[in-house]
Amino acid sequence: MGHVDAGKTKLLDCIRGTNVQEGEAGGITQQIGATYLPAENIRDRTKGLKADAKLNVRGLLVIDTPGHESFTNLRSRGSGLCDIAVLVVDIMHGLEPQTMESLDLLKMRNTDFIVALNKVDRLYGWKTHGDTRIVKESINEKQSKDVRNEFTRSLTQIITQFKEQGINTELYYDNKERGETYNIVPTISAISDLLVRDWNNGEGIPDLLLLLVQWAQKTMVKRLTYSEEVQCTVLEVKVVEGHGTTIDVVLVNGVHHEGDQIVVCGMQGPVATMIRALLTLHPMRELPVKGTYLHHKEIKAAQGIKIAAQGLEHTIAGMSIYIVRPHDNVEEIKEAAMKDVKSVMSRIAKS
Ligand code: GDP
Repeated sequence: MGHVDAGKTKLLDCIRGTNVQEGEAGGITQQIGATYLPAENIRDRTKGLKADAKLNVRGLLVIDTPGHESFTNLRSRGSGLCDIAVLVVDIMHGLEPQTMESLDLLKMRNTDFIVALNKVDRLYGWKTHGDTRIVKESINEKQSKDVRNEFTRSLTQIITQFKEQGINTELYYDNKERGETYNIVPTISAISDLLVRDWNNGEGIPDLLLLLVQWAQKTMVKRLTYSEEVQCTVLEVKVVEGHGTTIDVVLVNGVHHEGDQIVVCGMQGPVATMIRALLTLHPMRELPVKGTYLHHKEIKAAQGIKIAAQGLEHTIAGMSIYIVRPHDNVEEIKEAAMKDVKSVMSRIAKS
């Protein structure tokens, strides 16, 4: 999340590793609306940090929709789409209007986050070293005193701005009160595309990845355990040739089956329908063209998938999908879904 131009897209490119497109994914798989980073890949990329933390999570599912409306619509209660967010702030601009909006959403939903203090290379006199990806080393050992001072000055200013919003933040390697004080990771997600492609990662990206997995291991043990209860959020509504109106969703927990009856939240109220097709991308194909989807009889969480069904035209992004089991009362489920629609519609009307 973050203000336009802060570098969200470029940061995401760095996290994904540009080599996904080149077919050397290192286990990274592109899904619909999300990227899966296996633990081995993260281990490899964070080697230089010499972290003693054992990685016992399977990996991270990174949602690929920076600033997407689905996040704005997400219900404030119940389960969210993401467990932790990365808030991107441009070091030259500090907190901007959309940074504030993002902060409000994060606070409202009580979502944890890490601040990526991006574009540190824009500090006057910053020297880029292609061999240094680790932030602390880069700042403390490779930059001049003037740059270090400039960095500290900008950082202090931004920490103050966060404080004015009631949020305590600290440079992550100086942060002694993790949990109450949010971490800031200085990053460079792009200087020139060529350079970052050469590195595979920008500076600070390994630090960011390590913080994300460490956080997941520490705080998420229970929530990361797979459960049968379906938790699924709509990211986008798209018309696809041959499939009609489809929804791209992130299945956070549980299983979807072809033929499952579901209830989705539509602009005109809840819609009960049946999953006609469960689709994923072919491995290594980032841009789906006709016929590139794989069909599945069932799909287990956590994954980014596409659902084809009738009546999806007015589905609202950011809303949950409800599964109707044989013994369930569809009308009751529709009623529950209706409450969500009302709360989102009133929020949209207010804004
Ligand atoms: P978004 O709107 O937040 O997704 O921002 P983008 O990722 O599209 O980046 C906006 C602009 O900032 C682009 O021209 C990027 O090349 C540039 N940019 C992104 N990250 C960095 C960075 O770390 N350093 C510098 N110097 N430029 C960056």
